[in-house]
Amino acid sequence: MPLAAVSGDVVIRRLCVIGVGLIGGSLARDLRRAGVVEEVVGASRNRANLERAVELGVVDRFDTDPARAVAGADMVVLAVPLGAIGPVLGHIRPALAPGAVVTDVGSAKRCVIEAAREALGEVPSWLVPGHPIAGTENSGVEASFEGLFAGRRVLLTPIDGTDREATARVRAMWEVTRAEVLEMDPDHHDEVLAATSHLPHMLAYTLVDVLGSMEERVEIFRFAAGGFRDFTRIASSDPQMWHDICLANRDALVASLERFNDELAAATEAIRRGDGPWVKALFTRAKGLRDRYTESNGREGGGHVGQ
Ligand code: NAP
Repeated sequence: MPLAAVSGDVVIRRLCVIGVGLIGGSLARDLRRAGVVEEVVGASRNRANLERAVELGVVDRFDTDPARAVAGADMVVLAVPLGAIGPVLGHIRPALAPGAVVTDVGSAKRCVIEAAREALGEVPSWLVPGHPIAGTENSGVEASFEGLFAGRRVLLTPIDGTDREATARVRAMWEVTRAEVLEMDPDHHDEVLAATSHLPHMLAYTLVDVLGSMEERVEIFRFAAGGFRDFTRIASSDPQMWHDICLANRDALVASLERFNDELAAATEAIRRGDGPWVKALFTRAKGLRDRYTESNGREGGGHVGQ
């Protein structure tokens, strides 16, 4: 189904994307393709990246000052690393047009609400926190592509004071990308994503690092097979981005890591004592769960592990 067929009457006069990378660039591409946006203005720190975004047709024009870039925009998307959201919000606040809606795409949500409170002294009603559960291990505007969000989920985490009309506008924008848009409590979001996305990233990074330290003694990577590649793909993700995510969601992530450590310790003990039934029961349970999960989701791979 072409994007335009599902766009309804969504019209964004001027979209400002701050952080024209994988996520911001992919969203801009989908909205342009659907013809629901009249002008896209990009902003980030690096002029060369923004010039490339114009060349690729992702944005119409850019400004390296986000405050100048948001002038006259009716929709502003913050697609920067989590640690930059508070400072950027503080910087653009005085330049926002009346009635502008601001949303973000950060991978943890409570920290965005707290960053807004710290930067602005309140959590404004026009800020609609959001998170597309889609991505790849690649970064930058070159990595962006049309259709990244199709069939994926976007979680919006409005709080009590969030304007319902602003939330509806952000929802309508994401629906243009053919994502399924759901609303969720921000703390619940962070717990779920800690387990399904942030924990797997910690495991992948740590596994590769551990193997790297063994590499001196054994030729580990030379003989690594396809399973290793699949399992560790996400360890190629941007370190700064994952630094920000893991520290921003540290409470929920530590709880998941502790739970995992306990389970891994139990599995280690079972292997040590040669407890075949225990090990086989674990593998059988896990296989059953994964087979059911991939069947009910109707697809495999594509995006990050629940990113
Ligand atoms: P990305 O491809 O690296 O894009 C980030 C963009 O932000 C770049 O264009 C960068 O450009 C710009 N930027 C960085 N710091 C900035 C600052 N202080 N001020 C202004 N611009 C800044 O990263 P991404 O994967 O799109 O991730 C962006 C956000 O999406 C993150 O918050 C992440 O948690 C979230 N997210 C990522 C994924 C994923 O799979 N990657 C999935 C869902 C959500 P310059 O270097 O030119 O400044």
